[in-house]
Amino acid sequence: MSDEVFRGNFTQQEPIPEEAIEAAVAVMRSGRLHRYNVLPDEVGEVALLEEEFAAYTGAKYALAVASGGYALGCALRAVGVDTGDAVLTNAFTLAPVPGAIASVGARPIFVGVTDGLVIDLDDLQVKISESGARVLMLSHMRGHIVDMDALMYICNGAGVTVIEDCAHTMGATWDGVPSGRYGAVACYSTQTYKHINSGEGGLLVTDDDEVAVRAIMLSGSYMLYGAHTARPPVEVFEKVKYDTPNISGRMDHLRAAILRVQLRQLATQVDNWNARYRVVEEGLRDVAGLTLIERPQQEGFVGSSIQFLLLDWSDAQIEAVVSRCKARGVELKWFGAPEPVAFTSRYDSWRYADPQPLPESDSVLRAIVDMRLPLTFTLEDCALLARIIRDEVLRAGD
Ligand SMILES: *Cc1c(COP(=O)(O)O)cnc(C)c1O
Repeated sequence: MSDEVFRGNFTQQEPIPEEAIEAAVAVMRSGRLHRYNVLPDEVGEVALLEEEFAAYTGAKYALAVASGGYALGCALRAVGVDTGDAVLTNAFTLAPVPGAIASVGARPIFVGVTDGLVIDLDDLQVKISESGARVLMLSHMRGHIVDMDALMYICNGAGVTVIEDCAHTMGATWDGVPSGRYGAVACYSTQTYKHINSGEGGLLVTDDDEVAVRAIMLSGSYMLYGAHTARPPVEVFEKVKYDTPNISGRMDHLRAAILRVQLRQLATQVDNWNARYRVVEEGLRDVAGLTLIERPQQEGFVGSSIQFLLLDWSDAQIEAVVSRCKARGVELKWFGAPEPVAFTSRYDSWRYADPQPLPESDSVLRAIVDMRLPLTFTLEDCALLARIIRDEVLRAGD
């Protein structure tokens, strides 16, 4: 075994493209940063981003907001979730998802995860009937997309409204359909570690008139909703404008300006991510004790991170892999860690939710090892990452 060390930085994204920097400078020179601060004949960067994102996803309506988490909370309110309601969601997800459910005073009901890292559809059926929940906040966690036709069949049959958390699937598809187009609403994040980067930011899409107008009002449009261009006709707003609270969470022109440029480059970036993913995946094939996640044919994923399983390994063995990889510069996240670490936590660490044992999911969750693949890594870097992980898995598994 060699002692190669990796020297890249797992949280280093690419610079913002020069064209986007110029667009941002133009916004700053104008002094008009607020989305409703536009000249009489000006549409503004935020509304243009909404139009372009609606066109990109094929949705009728789009709304840009302050963060992905804000979009999730806004979507829950817009579909009518109320205090005390049960809302189904994935046990395998990140903290802002159950957090959005808690933010509207609702109760997260966790649904198990399969060894393909998607929501367990059998458990979903059980939890729908046990909880009586009418809403599922479906998280495409780490970009793994469940069989959407099967999921929608279950949810439509049970009268369950689906909100899709597409924080890790912007640019991805299921069976050729852009991720976020199966549910009633979909939410995306433009936070630095996602697929387009404005520091913080979020987008929401829907085809539903009522949901769109409520979301726009909720986001803090005052009575300026007419300035939106990816919206239902103004008459629809008349019905809800007096009873929809303003829960301020708008996006500004500065962030929209840099996102518009990145959205145009997203397809190329997706190819760049997937090239890196495939190099790491190839390098980890046929490593004894390590299980790769085979991606379904219908899934057009974005390989901005990669996961593998160390099934039935002891905590000490997994910890050894993680710490030895770290010593060689490779940052792995272990979803089984008993204490929440950095961005990673698991469903039993969200103690504001009712305790919900999920023994079958626990054996999968405690086996999940996760690694980011920022585009600042070269293909050679990715081959090196795989060699180091392979070495350390073989060594700890001996
Ligand atoms: C990042 C993330 C969010 C929330 O997005 P923010 O823009 O950070 O609020 C929601 N769900 C998942 C799975 C995420 O990774």
